[in-house]
Amino acid sequence: MAILTDTQQSPPDTGQPGPIPGPIVVTVDGPAGTGKSTVARQLAARLGLDFLDTGAMYRAAAAIVIDHQIDPTDTDAVLRIVTDADLHFDWTTDPPAILAWLKPLNKRIRDADVTRLVSQIAAIGPLREHMVMKQRLIAQQHPKLVSEGRDQGSVVFPDALVKFYLDADPEVRAKRRGEQLRAAGRTPASDEVLLQHILLRDARDSTRQQGPLVCPKDAIRVDTGPLSIHQVVDRLEHLVRERIAGTKA
Ligand code: C5P
Repeated sequence: MAILTDTQQSPPDTGQPGPIPGPIVVTVDGPAGTGKSTVARQLAARLGLDFLDTGAMYRAAAAIVIDHQIDPTDTDAVLRIVTDADLHFDWTTDPPAILAWLKPLNKRIRDADVTRLVSQIAAIGPLREHMVMKQRLIAQQHPKLVSEGRDQGSVVFPDALVKFYLDADPEVRAKRRGEQLRAAGRTPASDEVLLQHILLRDARDSTRQQGPLVCPKDAIRVDTGPLSIHQVVDRLEHLVRERIAGTKA
């Protein structure tokens, strides 16, 4: 596992801008609040790849469970309704919008009640199998992909050409989560409460039996704490282009 330390400078530009030709999967995993989604989305745009937000799929499942008053502990009922919703993305929007029963769920998936429930729903084994199948199908239809989540490098795309694992101290992540919510026009809880929520979600995501949050052994680990989003994207872009150049050599 390559570790990028805080003291390293962003690598220089490889001088190979422009879209990546041919199929490629890049995975970006890590806990909440590392800037993962923003980084993965910007990385995809720079490389000319599609961006898959797998967290949106689990959030959609949680929103459906709440809004249809399904008992979240009734795993059969959860699987039944989420399968029936036939989650899809609308790839014509940026970022792609998640659809349930062909209708966009929009900002509902970011609401606090959904965020509180999602890791419980994401721990349901058969639901994960359903999501993994859908994610692999998406990759067949979008073979140039940056896929972001918790298990993308470890379970869903074990053969991905480049795997990243983004991390940061929980306090930094809680602060960032508060800033993200404010930027989205929402009123966040205090940093202290956000920290408790993040630690709870980390614990649930890392200890579940199926597809737990782990750093894949062949992933490049990046501590995003001391870096700006721009610096992280620069670094990841450089590393992907370097890996591609290496495979061609
Ligand atoms: O990335 P985001 O915070 O939107 O993810 C929401 C939740 O979805 C995570 O806390 C996790 O419980 C679940 N998730 C998952 N596997 C993924 C992506 C997200 O279990 N690949």
